[in-house]
Amino acid sequence: MKVTRTTCIKIDVPANRREDLHRTIEQFNFAANYTVQHGRNDDGYLILTKAKIHDRVYHGLREETELPANLCVRAYSKALEAMKSTVADWKKGNSRTLPQFNEPSAVYDKRTLTIKDRSATISTVNGRVAVDYVLGDYQKSYLDDQDYERRMGTLHYREDENAFYLHVVIQKEVEKRDGNKVLGVDLNLKNVAVTSTASFYDGGELLWGQNHFFRVRRSLQHKGTRTAKQVLRRLSGRETRFVLNRLHTISRRIVEEADAHDCSYIAVERLTHIRERMDSRNDRVKRQMHNWAFRELQEMLEYKAAQYGIRVECVSPAYTSQICSKCGYKSSSNRDSGGWFECEECGYAIDGDYNAAKNIGFRLITVPSDERSDGLGDGHLALKSGMLNGNGDYTAYDVSSSDQESTDKSTTSFVDR
Ligand SMILES: [Zn+2]
Repeated sequence: MKVTRTTCIKIDVPANRREDLHRTIEQFNFAANYTVQHGRNDDGYLILTKAKIHDRVYHGLREETELPANLCVRAYSKALEAMKSTVADWKKGNSRTLPQFNEPSAVYDKRTLTIKDRSATISTVNGRVAVDYVLGDYQKSYLDDQDYERRMGTLHYREDENAFYLHVVIQKEVEKRDGNKVLGVDLNLKNVAVTSTASFYDGGELLWGQNHFFRVRRSLQHKGTRTAKQVLRRLSGRETRFVLNRLHTISRRIVEEADAHDCSYIAVERLTHIRERMDSRNDRVKRQMHNWAFRELQEMLEYKAAQYGIRVECVSPAYTSQICSKCGYKSSSNRDSGGWFECEECGYAIDGDYNAAKNIGFRLITVPSDERSDGLGDGHLALKSGMLNGNGDYTAYDVSSSDQESTDKSTTSFVDR
């Protein structure tokens, strides 16, 4: 399986070349917007194939901008992807405005960006610029891993830091892990994530609207003055990275948990469920933030897991919060509004998200194999101190084995299966 990830590298740009990068980004966005405006057939419909877009806009882009040829191609390609997804949305009956490009970034490929271990050269509207990386150990570890193939990248300008970054896409081939043991993970609002092995990862209040950034942002939005808008833009970049940092930590720990339990799979719910479960009174900003955060978290999980050869699989979210993970009894009143689960049938009482995490994992090992390409019919679900097969048979871990870190965990195993 292929592992793809993006590593963000701060770059040191010579003072006299910064303006060239700014102009390149500006013209890149102009080129993408130009493509949306001019990339139409004679009947006015958006063009959706690369060859036709090229014929329609390439010469115009070369005339209207100072961008090198390959950046023009990247710009119209980026616009084309956005146009395609817009049209796909229209076909589903959703209203959506035409794509617009004003992010401070530009897309590069092998011809316009040369990525070396500690430096890069970047095409601009004014020839190439050589830059050095400002690297942390984290990024060094990726750049020094020669198994990674470095592919495309994007150039970003971060206004709050007044600094340029390269987001470099790197890829390597990793062998899929054998075995069929599954870690179930519930992604939710109260805790950010809970695993079938009873690890709880809270977001430290950062995601759910009570946090400092969120309040400042909202008060600034109400002010709406020009200074407030500038602060808001800076803040949202910092806020975003703050949240992403936390999500990185959580996803890394979940993958380490899966690895520690020898799992080959991580089961999560299809994300639509998160939206459904959200309180309808939540305001729109908060809702968008949740959806964005969960998408990010799932993506992070996928690529971090892939580095271990672990696959992330989505299961149907139906009733995972209502079903008792012990006896299988389903009732909407099993779970109270505070998130506590108590089975009306067997009396099993447990944190609601933990209960859901077990159901999610169990679903992956019991899903009919004709619904999956690689059926896990004989899979096992990893629990806190043992594992469960698809028939619901429980096996406690061997307490004497070295990978069992404490014995007190297994003494609770039969109560808290
Ligand atoms: Zn029950």
